[in-house]
Amino acid sequence: MARVFNFSAGPAVLPEEVLREAAEEMLDYKGTGMSVMEMSHRSKMFQDILDDAEQDFRELLGVPANYKVLFIQGGGHVQFAMVPLNLMKNRKAEYIVTGQWAKKALQEAALYGDVRAVASSEDKVYSYIPDCTDLSIRADADYLYFCKNNTIYGTVFHETPNAKGKTLVADVSSCFLSVPEKVTDYGILWGGVQKNVGPAGMAIAVVREDLIGDCLPGTPTMLRYETYAAHGSLYNTPPCYNIYICGKVFRWIKEIGGLAAMQKRNEEKAALLYDFLDQSKLFSNPVRREDRSVMNVTFVTGNAALDKKFVEEAKAAGLENLKGHRTVGGMRASLYNAMPKEGVQRLVDFMAAFEKREA
Ligand code: PMP
Repeated sequence: MARVFNFSAGPAVLPEEVLREAAEEMLDYKGTGMSVMEMSHRSKMFQDILDDAEQDFRELLGVPANYKVLFIQGGGHVQFAMVPLNLMKNRKAEYIVTGQWAKKALQEAALYGDVRAVASSEDKVYSYIPDCTDLSIRADADYLYFCKNNTIYGTVFHETPNAKGKTLVADVSSCFLSVPEKVTDYGILWGGVQKNVGPAGMAIAVVREDLIGDCLPGTPTMLRYETYAAHGSLYNTPPCYNIYICGKVFRWIKEIGGLAAMQKRNEEKAALLYDFLDQSKLFSNPVRREDRSVMNVTFVTGNAALDKKFVEEAKAAGLENLKGHRTVGGMRASLYNAMPKEGVQRLVDFMAAFEKREA
């Protein structure tokens, strides 16, 4: 068996230890004689899996007692709808548009109310993070929304936007559990799990309790945070296997030393690649330096045919999924938590050899 180095933006690489453990438990989870996939979600065994997962997640992120941790079916796009449906009492919200995912979130919210882009970096193909220290936020706006790490463009907010006392909502999908977060800065912090945390099909939302319970009329039961909060994410059959794998990933992060240790590892990995890009005469990174993402590193040669050749040759060398998002082209290396430093070193060595050959 040969595992490749998988730089996919999501679904993405998971820790090998987690996959091996899950494989060992596949046919017989802890003497039950069945897989977690086959187990009743009302069983004590599954309740323990769910409780442990929530507990470990809370510990990792330092979630205060007045925030609920909710495991919710569907991925990011379901949260694009749940945020306005649950928060938009005045039918007014402000969005910071730093990429396609923030824009899609804004478009979804516009189905329910009066939504404005109070800052945007669309003018320069989302290659920077706009100044968000003094935004013009309406006095009766329900919330301010932003996407912390922009998966497609490779930018990240290093400073939290100033919400001027309004509820701040963050999509942290592509930097989930990669750095410590100050949860109390946010009313809602949510992430799709398919990048840093687990298998696709679920999001985890951390929601301040006072924001729960007052949704727009007609909000479907399964799109109310209240439904998940009141039933411990077990109102209906949850994505049991996803929760089980996420729980294993939480334990893996804890064993490494938690989010501060994870951040250090991630910064070291990203520095390897950015340092190479900064001295390269062939490859360059199109992002404003101070806004560079630690998770998704974008780069180009400036020649689309050469980009294509690079991606193909890299794949043949066991470095997979380096093609940039279909809307922007070029290359993108996603360096999520589970990507080992060795993988990034292999990529940099390969890029150096490619550059030499093509010079
Ligand atoms: N937010 C971010 C930051 C993303 O990267 C993505 C998907 N790559 C989404 C939201 C959308 O998630 P989903 O495909 O799960 O709806």
